[in-house]
Amino acid sequence: MRTKVYHITFHSAFSSACLFFYGCNFSCKGCLRKIYLYDCHLEENYPKEAKIRFLSVEEIINLLSKVTPEEIIFEGWEPTMDRNLKEVAKVIKKEIGSYTLLLTNGYLFPPFDAFDEIKISIKAYNEKIHEEYTGMSNKNVLANFKKTYEETSAKISAETVLIPEYVDTMEIKKIADFIASVDENIPLRIDSYWSIASREWQAPTKEEMYAAVKEAKKYLKNVYFLAGDESIKGEVIKVI
Ligand code: SF4
Repeated sequence: MRTKVYHITFHSAFSSACLFFYGCNFSCKGCLRKIYLYDCHLEENYPKEAKIRFLSVEEIINLLSKVTPEEIIFEGWEPTMDRNLKEVAKVIKKEIGSYTLLLTNGYLFPPFDAFDEIKISIKAYNEKIHEEYTGMSNKNVLANFKKTYEETSAKISAETVLIPEYVDTMEIKKIADFIASVDENIPLRIDSYWSIASREWQAPTKEEMYAAVKEAKKYLKNVYFLAGDESIKGEVIKVI
């Protein structure tokens, strides 16, 4: 079975393998994939003219069985763009047996019964900001977030990106309030904006990040953040 996976890395500190799926239905202004075709934690990154070869599920299983990860993260661009995603996830789960986590922008309803955890990225609560930043409405994202929570036994978590003077503390507050309206126990990770793909905005200061986290914590019980300057733990290995 063919997949949209073109790249795999292994993070030794977390025993996690990352499967990179190609393609996305959004065109986020700050998308890292515009710069890093491959895992941004690799020292060696890649020229735009790098040729992409899609792997078969059999190849993926073969490669994963060599690194024996405890966790497999389905990410990249947008994994739900792979029409075989559900089947691919189920086969990998059956053959490798690791914890499986899907990272998605939530625009397409995820095949939730194929994963242990689904992390939905909410780029903005304000529809106008969402459309301007991603090129798409957030109506599906918010509806799918609720529906996924209601219909799955998989763990649900959320992430967003703090962009000063754009997706700012007030916008994070609205995102946290929305998530809490579904369940205040859903974990939210706030990432620091990385201005490498678009210099239209700056990365937040530590103070701005703390203020956003503090605001989100008024609504949610489990909020954490990535400031972007964390040192890499262990080794990040290019599997293919
Ligand atoms: S959803 Fe993710 S992969 Fe897709 S354009 Fe946005 S940042 Fe890039």
